[in-house]
Amino acid sequence: MAATDRNGSAVASRNINAREAHAGDAGAPPSPPPSPTDTPAAALPDILRRARAAQAEWGLHPARARRALARRLCDVLYERREALTRCVMQETGKPLVEALFGDVLIALDTAQYYARHAAGFLRDLRVPHHNIAVKAKSGKLHYEPYGVIGIIAPWNYPLAIPLGQAVAAVVAGNAVVLKPSELAPSSGQMIAECFVAAGFPPNLVQAIYGTGVIGEALITARPDKIVFTGSVDTGKRVAEACARLLIPSVLELGGKDAMIVLADADLEAASSAAVWGSFTNCGQACLSVERVYVERAVAARFTDLCVAKTRALQLGPGSNPENEVGPLIRPEAITRIESQIREAVSQGAQVLCGGHRRPDLGPAFFEPTVVVVANIDVVFANTDVPNIEPPSIRAPGGGLSLMREETFGPVLAIAAVDSADEAVAFANDSKFGLSASIWTRDVQRARRLAGRIHAGAVMINDVGSYYGIAEAPHGGRGASGWGRTHSRIGLMEMVQVKYVDVDWLSRWPKAWWFGYNQDLAESAGRFIDFLYAPRWPDRWRGAIGALRSLACARRKR
Ligand code: NAD
Repeated sequence: MAATDRNGSAVASRNINAREAHAGDAGAPPSPPPSPTDTPAAALPDILRRARAAQAEWGLHPARARRALARRLCDVLYERREALTRCVMQETGKPLVEALFGDVLIALDTAQYYARHAAGFLRDLRVPHHNIAVKAKSGKLHYEPYGVIGIIAPWNYPLAIPLGQAVAAVVAGNAVVLKPSELAPSSGQMIAECFVAAGFPPNLVQAIYGTGVIGEALITARPDKIVFTGSVDTGKRVAEACARLLIPSVLELGGKDAMIVLADADLEAASSAAVWGSFTNCGQACLSVERVYVERAVAARFTDLCVAKTRALQLGPGSNPENEVGPLIRPEAITRIESQIREAVSQGAQVLCGGHRRPDLGPAFFEPTVVVVANIDVVFANTDVPNIEPPSIRAPGGGLSLMREETFGPVLAIAAVDSADEAVAFANDSKFGLSASIWTRDVQRARRLAGRIHAGAVMINDVGSYYGIAEAPHGGRGASGWGRTHSRIGLMEMVQVKYVDVDWLSRWPKAWWFGYNQDLAESAGRFIDFLYAPRWPDRWRGAIGALRSLACARRKR
């Protein structure tokens, strides 16, 4: 019997299977869906006005009602999963498995997580006061929506990233204006349509389309907060534009994630993770494994495994579900990758496999490539990066761009190191700080090393998958940006905190109010003794002195 979904439709018949996704195509990438037309910048004031009007009502809805619609959104996403998957594949070229795991599943899971937990996270929070001087008051934190959140999104996970951010924004009571990447506009359009289909008020989630020009115009139109995900260069421009208008921002930028493989690691698992972590989404993930530092004793074995597993990968259009590595988003991206490899080779690095374009498959195909950086000295990169330990370990000179700048392509760069300490120092020798991973059988040791790594997240014995854990905050340090998405902490980015305080003894005049005189000053000094003097006798003397001089001060008023 066919399984049915919550609305009673047959699920089995709508499951996306290999045959459907391949659609009888002999390998040519499917043509993208018709793109929505670009939004003129002149339309933005109206779009913002409509968003504000929608939010003004939506913000009054109780959290329970918002939660019910978020649940309905999950249903809509599930019902439309096939169309969403196809759209993501067509716009990005990624393989079916990656569109399902990396976009659809994460989008659904984030929506479900906030549907279940947002109301609890946003409940008023009582604030107990520790100071006896304010014990007659009680405080509470209230979480209020910002208003309109502008979401500017990249193309590489065109569903999972903006959808997760938009759900967090609306369950917190905001409206959203979403600008998807110009390379994945239809995914953005489908996101906005899903919100409407779920019953969210019209104009609460609107999508606008176009290049960075419309992204800039969105900021100029003055939303109440910007959540930006993209490259470091654009992130700087966005941060500047926001700063000029004092608009707060979350910046989710690039990474140069390091993987540390210690001598006692399970090399089979570590090498599979390195290969997947470097080549998933054709290396175009902010959490890609971009640098591997492996202890010298196991470096040769680990590298051999990586090379063998890389050679076994099937390269080709994502439309064939058997293909594991798809194309880059644009042919131009290959130029950067080739130049990084060329420079590394000129400094003694070796390309062990891959390293070539594959025009036979399409203009944007590049072979998964394993590079071994022979001379570790040349990997040292950022002499201006603070917080690096210990300085003596850093070699002079520049450093390879392959080990310094985001590659954002299918290149796995491996360097052998002499110790875990050296690996940590090298991992930290980067302007980026998004995530990292440590591979060892000694989890306690890994935890200690994780504490020394300059990154927003460290995975022990896995790579990248924390992005799929809704409870895990995602975000970076340094050039990887600021702020967080996902988790309770990501939800808190969507609200402003208001502290509300009630005084239960309001008829009593406060000791610190006007009517100053010498006795009151004496009382204040004794009160400080009472609270903070290191010895108890001094504290008691302080308490008595404070009360006496306060009484005198009152009499003189
Ligand atoms: P990008 O910076 O080129 O573009 C991102 C978005 O910004 C697009 O929508 C673009 O149209 C818009 N934009 C461009 N110029 C703008 C401007 N001046 N003002 C406002 N908006 C502007 O990035 P991309 O190529 O789409 O994505 C790849 C980059 O994103 C990589 O560096 C990757 O590491 C990063 N990324 C980071 C995360 C993360 O969570 N940290 C996730 C995914 C991607």
